Amino acid sequence: MPGRLAGLSTLVTGGGSGLGRAIVERYLAEGAVVTVLERSPEKLRDLVASHGDSIRPVQGDVTSGEDNVAAVEAALEAFGGLDTFVGNAGLWDFGKPLLDMTMNDLEQGYRELFDVNVKGYLVGARASAKALTERSGSMIFTLSNAALFPRGGGVLYTASKHAGVGVVSQLAYELAPHVRVNAVAPGGMATDLRGPAAMGLADQSIKDILPAEDRLRQYSALDIAPRAEDYVDTYVLLASRNESRTVTGAVFDVSTVGTPRRPDATS
Ligand code: NAD
Repeated sequence: MPGRLAGLSTLVTGGGSGLGRAIVERYLAEGAVVTVLERSPEKLRDLVASHGDSIRPVQGDVTSGEDNVAAVEAALEAFGGLDTFVGNAGLWDFGKPLLDMTMNDLEQGYRELFDVNVKGYLVGARASAKALTERSGSMIFTLSNAALFPRGGGVLYTASKHAGVGVVSQLAYELAPHVRVNAVAPGGMATDLRGPAAMGLADQSIKDILPAEDRLRQYSALDIAPRAEDYVDTYVLLASRNESRTVTGAVFDVSTVGTPRRPDATS
């Protein structure tokens, strides 16, 4: 059976670990080829060792327009075109409240976090739009429950992910009818997600501080503690040519946290 993404050329930013890596591996399993823009050379080496020629690794920084252009060019050169751009690399603020930040933390942290979470998505969109237009392709951005609700981070992260909703809505309008633009908003999962160095948050991961699985389940209306792999189906749906032809400007809330659990739920 050919996969649901057979023959598609895709580009995933931050594909070296966590959700990005889960998307890369599922896209490969569905028959796509994948270019990965990632800043960690170790993570890229590991991906290539596991998946060989189906992966085109590009080491670079998503905040750089030039690096995004290089990644798109690498996809065109290796695979002859580009069908899907997945903007995914992100930083978290570890839920830091406004009043716990010094003014310096706030100013420098804002710059670093918004550079990755918002500018990174915009320059990625700018770099990939022409190639996607040629193939009537699509963009998919990773947002978060924090794009829609409070308490998924601190105010820096929440504001940056809300900005992502604006990116999707405006670009879906500007790039129609040639390129579909959508987002997926997952909830908390144990990954290597890090924070801004300027706030002293670069050397810890969300997996080190997330509550144990049984407590995590209590945040979920569906009583589950999702892993990165649990979120990737929506990314397949949105990349597919014939499964989401009518979908653009949509933010899929797959976080399971928006509907609180019933107070009488027992487990
Ligand atoms: P992760 O750190 O495991 O993956 C992110 C990847 O992006 C890493 O491989 C990292 O090296 C790379 N990266 C970071 N900054 C980069 C840069 N400037 N240039 C290039 N690569 C860079 O974390 P994750 O949890 O898989 O995060 C992926 C996305 O999921 C992010 O957008 C995040 O906001 C979102 N998200 C995560 C959670 C969670 O609980 N982990 C919840 C909701 C949304």
